[in-house]
Amino acid sequence: MTRFIFITGGVVSSLGKGLASASLAALLQARGYRVRLRKLDPYLNVDPGTMNPNQHGEVFVTDDGAETDLDLGHYERFTNVAARKSDNVTTGQIYSKLLSKERRGDYLGGTVQVIPHVTDLIKEFVVNDTEGEDFVLCEIGGTVGDIEGLPFFEAIRQLGYEMGKQRVLFMHVTLVPYIAAAREIKTKPTQHSVKELRSIGIQPDILLCRAEREIPLAERRKIALFCNLREEAVIQGLDAASIYEVPRNLSEQGLDRQVLSHFALPAQSVPELARWDDITRRIHAPKGEVTVAVVGKYTGIGDVYKSLAEALDHAGIANQLKVHVRWVDAAANDIEAALQGAHAILVPGGFGERGVSGKLAAIEYARERKVPYLGICFGMQLACIEFARNALGMKDATSTEFGAYDDRDGRGPLIGLMTEWMRGNVLETRRHDGDLGGTMRLGAYDCIIAPGSLAHRVYGAEQITERHRHRYEVNIAYRAQMEEGGMRFSGMSPGGNLPEIVELADHPFFIGVQFHPEFKSRPFAAHPLFAAFVQAAAQRAEKEPKPAHVLRMPAKA
Ligand code: GLN
Repeated sequence: MTRFIFITGGVVSSLGKGLASASLAALLQARGYRVRLRKLDPYLNVDPGTMNPNQHGEVFVTDDGAETDLDLGHYERFTNVAARKSDNVTTGQIYSKLLSKERRGDYLGGTVQVIPHVTDLIKEFVVNDTEGEDFVLCEIGGTVGDIEGLPFFEAIRQLGYEMGKQRVLFMHVTLVPYIAAAREIKTKPTQHSVKELRSIGIQPDILLCRAEREIPLAERRKIALFCNLREEAVIQGLDAASIYEVPRNLSEQGLDRQVLSHFALPAQSVPELARWDDITRRIHAPKGEVTVAVVGKYTGIGDVYKSLAEALDHAGIANQLKVHVRWVDAAANDIEAALQGAHAILVPGGFGERGVSGKLAAIEYARERKVPYLGICFGMQLACIEFARNALGMKDATSTEFGAYDDRDGRGPLIGLMTEWMRGNVLETRRHDGDLGGTMRLGAYDCIIAPGSLAHRVYGAEQITERHRHRYEVNIAYRAQMEEGGMRFSGMSPGGNLPEIVELADHPFFIGVQFHPEFKSRPFAAHPLFAAFVQAAAQRAEKEPKPAHVLRMPAKA
């Protein structure tokens, strides 16, 4: 029997609902259950892929090619269960499905309404494709009371009613703030938030109260009384030093036990959390530290490079090193100064021409000074451009993404749009006039690695699968010339048409990949590319042990 846990939020956003959901899933998994995580996003955009990362954080990409909310990244990292297209939906998607059904005449001329038609589609999404799962945890984006969220709340209310308590649990995440002037913690916002939830027919079974300070028992009792819950069901979620401590902390507060007892499942034993504890131990006892400069268009904004920051952390855990990330603005006046003392340089994925000259300068710096370099997607394409321009003298080498077109002897541009490629045995095409959201190579594709290459040493495999999200490709018509000059195309698509990995022979560690390895990195299994990159940074740090200037991104608990 599949049980459903709905996670809602109240009082303020950014309470870490996603992490709480992921942590609860990890706890259930640590007790031997099969879990699945889903996100219902109330905004109207059809495709999170086209949303501004400044507003919405990174776009997470699944194996099956969905561009999703970044919370799915937390889910995957905490549970190692690969998310799918069917795990994230937006109001926009629900409505576009509804309206095309209406146009097709599926509603037979009946009046089409939010209840039941929109709510039915939401319910269908929630229960669809959940066979074999013990628990499906479904997070509702936004906070209770948001107008856009209402149909989602109504849909999960209906599911709770239809399936009953033995199959549905509602967990509400709220904030219990500390007011410094009064030297008191305040429960009123939580009371109001639960009142709001109950006014739309949902009585939470568990309250997870996020707090900076310990919530005294008396206050927890008060919350329980006013919110119509048992005292044990009011769980406090205190800020943690690292996100990997959250599952252990929540378990100690009794979260997983409460969930199991709600469903009348045995809860006496304790979950197996040794691997989480091991990570925490490694984080708190690093053997050294390195500084990695990340040169991008968006800097210092917490969630834009979420998976990337996590992957670097994972690589730190694997090498037992503290990895300091220095976010370098690609538009900075003096890139060279900004890179001083960094032990490695990374140019991440990106779109558009802004900041390109700074990124190219950073790549040139890494190449010439033999600083370890990892180029991801755009960072790989730009590494090819930099090499072609500065090492091979192809001064006008560029990408058609910038509205320019370079050509040599009819070979076309160095980086350009490819209109056809093979995925397995299927020919896929990309339309130049397609929707903005529909023109990308998305999701998992295989890559064949050349024996004896750096990539081969890093992966220890000749065939890998990695996730993609890009429109443009490096043109293989330049392969021979680039390889002769010293840039090896060490990873190619199975058909040999699409360059996937490039590297420099005459360099301690210089590698560019057309895919996004950060999406597949896990705290328990750092991605080999990131692990090797951080190791190369450590080797450089040994040679040049100057204290590095450190800027940390604000952590989001
Ligand atoms: N802008 C580049 C492209 O579309 C790279 C995309 C990326 O880095 N994800 O191909």
